[in-house]
Parts: sequence; structure tokens; C-alpha cells
Amino acid sequence: MILQKERLLPTPPELWPAEDELRAALNGSSVFWCGRAATALLWAYEIARLVGDSVDIPEAIVPAISCLTPANAASLAGYRVRFADVDPQTGLVTLDTVRERWTPATRAVVFVDLFGQTADLNPLAAWCRENNLLLIEDVAQAQGARLPGGLPAGSGGEVAVFSFNPTKILECGGGALVARSARVREALDCSPISLPVSEIDSQSAVLLSESAGKLHRALVALRRIEAAPNIAAAYLRLQAAYCGLYLRSLHRPVKLASAWASLPRLIEARARRAEVYASRLSGGPWRLLDGWRSSGVCWRYSLLVDFPEHLMSLSEAVRRDGFHVSNLYWPVNEFINPLDHCPHAEYFARRIVNLWTEEAVSVDWVEKCCSSVAAHALRYSRTV
Ligand SMILES: *Cc1c(COP(=O)(O)O)cnc(C)c1O
Repeated sequence: MILQKERLLPTPPELWPAEDELRAALNGSSVFWCGRAATALLWAYEIARLVGDSVDIPEAIVPAISCLTPANAASLAGYRVRFADVDPQTGLVTLDTVRERWTPATRAVVFVDLFGQTADLNPLAAWCRENNLLLIEDVAQAQGARLPGGLPAGSGGEVAVFSFNPTKILECGGGALVARSARVREALDCSPISLPVSEIDSQSAVLLSESAGKLHRALVALRRIEAAPNIAAAYLRLQAAYCGLYLRSLHRPVKLASAWASLPRLIEARARRAEVYASRLSGGPWRLLDGWRSSGVCWRYSLLVDFPEHLMSLSEAVRRDGFHVSNLYWPVNEFINPLDHCPHAEYFARRIVNLWTEEAVSVDWVEKCCSSVAAHALRYSRTV
């Protein structure tokens, strides 16, 4: 099925090859194409309500380290959002950190394959089955990656969610949900999803998404320098204003269909650039995240620096040298539910440096970027 102009229609023929491939790779029962992973997440939360026992206010457990989207979509779908802390070395949630947030109202759990890293999801999936929870694997940053057992990323949960929007691996636009169980498919067949928002025009969407990004950066800065003890009160008051962002149709299936074939080449090229980062940054006042080696996908080349006090100065200095660098993701619990204290997420957020691996950067650029990072990092590590 495909979401177009707020209507679910049969998948157009040009997307059949991609749909067959996704279904076969993930052992999936059906695929729903839409404009954003955010829309797919909204659906997934709706499905979790349908397949779970009824409850007044369902709860979703999402990672404390991620973009805001999985948490925002859960709020919009009427959930109370709970945040699982992460492994401080990888930024990934674990079975233990998820279990800590379980309550009788829990209906959905989201695992994010952060920066392309994957994990053995079997224990988490088994626990979700025992507790009748829907496990949603968010593959937005890891399309084409492998789980530790060799199966494709997206086959760890009962539902997989993909993004094909700019900055992700395929940047042609779009998102998808893959249903991987009979009960999910049946729930969808018997009860077509009613989405809690309507679609906004593209001009408003551009402005709104710009505004959301700026609000996010503004609030993160306050927390980074501890200028405000709590940003959730401000964020939650405005959250409803952004709800129009979360529902989007897939407008250009032809573009997605033609981009699909380029996935192996794009992943391969990212791995080549990651290899250069790994060899040029093999030693220094940082720790490299090397999960991309086993997963096969490096979305952002990432390291954790040993000098958190100077993290932002490092990024600024590298940017001044002309290189893309970011410090993705402040703990999302601080925006939405600060009572879910996640100290490891804060540890991670205060150290993470993300470097570019996409088509726009050449191997030569990567080499120079490494020299810049290494030189400034050495300088800042000495001033601790
Ligand atoms: C980018 C991203 C999303 C949202 O993707 P859209 O297609 O822009 O909605 C969701 N989850 C994760 C982990 C992401 O990185």
C-alpha cells in the first residue's frame, strides 16, 4: 500500500520490485510506503495499540539517544513516552535499560540502529513477545546493514521503519513500514489506520521543519551550558504546533524506485570512507565507534572524545577548517520526560562527534578532515 494525499492506495507497479525485495529480505508480510519514517512510526504506534490489550494511556519505550522523531511520533499517537538509557560506548539501548522502563501500560518498544550500528535483537524481541509488546526497529540510519547473526537490519523487530529522506542512505525522499507478523498484518487489514493529523502543504512543511530544527538547537544549547535546568516545559508547550510535520505522503514513487538500485554502491562507498577515518584516527584522545564494521553500514563516522568540556570548541575549530562535523543528539528524555533520568545518554551526548561519509565527500576530503580533527583534538585534550 502507499499513502498518497491522505489515502491508502495499492502500491504502484514501479515500486513492486523494491517491495518484493524488502519483503523477501525481512521476511515481511506487507509494506506500507509513505513520505517519512515519522509517518511510518505513527502507523507503528497505532498498530501497537490495536494488537495490545486496551489501556487508557499506552506507553512507548524509546531510546534516549536518537533524533526527536520516534518520541514525538509516540506523543502524537497518544502515548506517554518513556526513555531507555543507552550503552555509553555505543549509544544503543539494551534489554536491561528497556526493561527498567516497563510498566503494565507499555505497548511499544523502539530500537534505533544508531549511526548504522546494529545489535543482537533476539533477547529484546523475545522479551517483547513475552510481554505482548510491539518491537519497532527504526532502520532510518542503517538501511542495508546486517544484524550480528547476518540477517538484514529491519528483521529484528515485528515492524521495521525506514527513511529515504535527505541525510539518510538513500536521499530520494520517502519512508516505509514493513509489517513482519501475521497479527500486524491482520490488525492493518481489519482496521485501517486513522491518522491523528492531516497533511500540510509543502511550503508550510519547509518552514515548520526549519523551525523545529532551530528550536531543537536552541534548547540543546541551554542544556549544554546548563543555563536552564529544564527544557521540557518549554518544549512540550510548543510540541503540538509541529504535529503537521509527521504525516507525509510518498509523492514520487518513481524516484524512489530508481534510487533503490543504487543502495549497494552507496553503502560500499560509505564503508570506504569509514575505512579512511578508521585508519587516520586510529589513536588519540578519543574512542572510535566501530559497530559499522560488523553491520556493514556507516551512516556517520562517530567517535567519543575524552575531553567533553571542549567538545563544542573542537567542532567549531573543525568547521572553521571547512569540514562537516556534528554532535548529533542530545538526550531526548530531557525534552519530553526528564523524570526518566538517563545518565549514560548524557555521557554519550557530551562526547559524540559525527563525521560525514556521504557521496558529497571525497576520500581526499576525509583525509584532510581527519588531520583537522586530530590536530584540534590533541590541542583541546591538553587544555583539560
Ligand atoms: C531521520 C530519522 C527519522 C525520521 O526520518 P524521516 O523520514 O525524516 O521522518 C526517524 N528515526 C531516525 C532514527 C532517524 O534518523
